[in-house]
Amino acid sequence: MATDTRVLAAEFQYLEAHSLDEALAWLGQYGTRARVLAGGTDLLVKMKTGQVQPEYIIYIKKVAGLDYIQADEAGLRIGATTTLRKLEGCAAVKTGYSALYEAVRSMAATAIRNMGTIGGNLGNASPAADTAPPLLVYGATLKLASQAGTRLVPVEEFFLGPGKTCLAPEELLTEISLPPQGSESGSSFLKLGRVAADIAKINVAVSLQRSGRNCTACRIAFGSVAPTPIRVPEAEALLAGQEITEDLIETAAQAGAAAIKPISDNRSTREYRLKVSRVMLAEALRAAWQRAGGVL
Ligand SMILES: Cc1cc2nc3c(=O)[nH]c(=O)nc-3n(C[C@H](O)[C@H](O)[C@H](O)COP(=O)(O)OP(=O)(O)OC[C@H]3O[C@@H](n4cnc5c(N)ncnc54)[C@H](O)[C@@H]3O)c2cc1C
Repeated sequence: MATDTRVLAAEFQYLEAHSLDEALAWLGQYGTRARVLAGGTDLLVKMKTGQVQPEYIIYIKKVAGLDYIQADEAGLRIGATTTLRKLEGCAAVKTGYSALYEAVRSMAATAIRNMGTIGGNLGNASPAADTAPPLLVYGATLKLASQAGTRLVPVEEFFLGPGKTCLAPEELLTEISLPPQGSESGSSFLKLGRVAADIAKINVAVSLQRSGRNCTACRIAFGSVAPTPIRVPEAEALLAGQEITEDLIETAAQAGAAAIKPISDNRSTREYRLKVSRVMLAEALRAAWQRAGGVL
């Protein structure tokens, strides 16, 4: 693999879409020979290092109607080309979807967040993608469009493996929708990188609902511990319907750590990931519980 990330060596044809119809028509025509370009912060690196060599690049950031955040009683709808920076600056994200806010805030430097999009973070399908665990714990739905129409896919079914999604070659991710969060709900995201604003060695998100001293529902998701971001139902089941105590949080955190099967790679070792996952999950559970109004 080439390591020079300054030069785009291979030739390609650059297509700039100005409408969804235009983008979908090109995707329909060129399919596997094309790649969608949003912010380019993942794709251009892969092209410069020769990991992908598309014949056609379809630029979608000028497509009208894909860059929006809409918050109302039905929840949150995010257009696929919405930048990470715009999400970070959105009050509805900050106050209502803390895990997503914390994830976006943890990502890269401002310059990258100005360019990078939420659609690109999902489309790149890195096991370490920081927006994935929050979207998993919120139960997000993704809208995929092609010339044949649109289909809705739960985010849990979207990732198939490193760099692989359920998107067909002619499909475009157009929208991410998140259900509304109740007043007694709380969520949190934690990430450990080698340095600040780095790709995660491991990340975790929690979302839970409270009723009095009890947790009525809980979702937990880890990134960078499997070929795709994953939920850990083993730990979730221990919390749902239970009174939340420090002891139960520790028990659930241990169960979460026992459920994951991380590997060693250039960012971290399997042993380290196993150890810190327990501590991170306990921290994330405490934060989400307290944000839901719970006391410990
Ligand atoms: C220095 C640096 C630091 C980074 N730090 C982080 C980090 O901390 N955490 C993290 O998670 N990531 C990080 N990244 C990765 C990257 O910035 C993010 O994944 C970003 O959100 C990608 O968005 P983009 O718009 O630039 O995607 P692009 O590079 O444009 O696209 C990425 C992939 O998704 C596909 N795609 C894009 N949009 C769509 C769509 N609407 N429908 C279908 N497919 C689509 C593209 O074809 C491509 O395969 C970093 C990258 C760099 C260079």
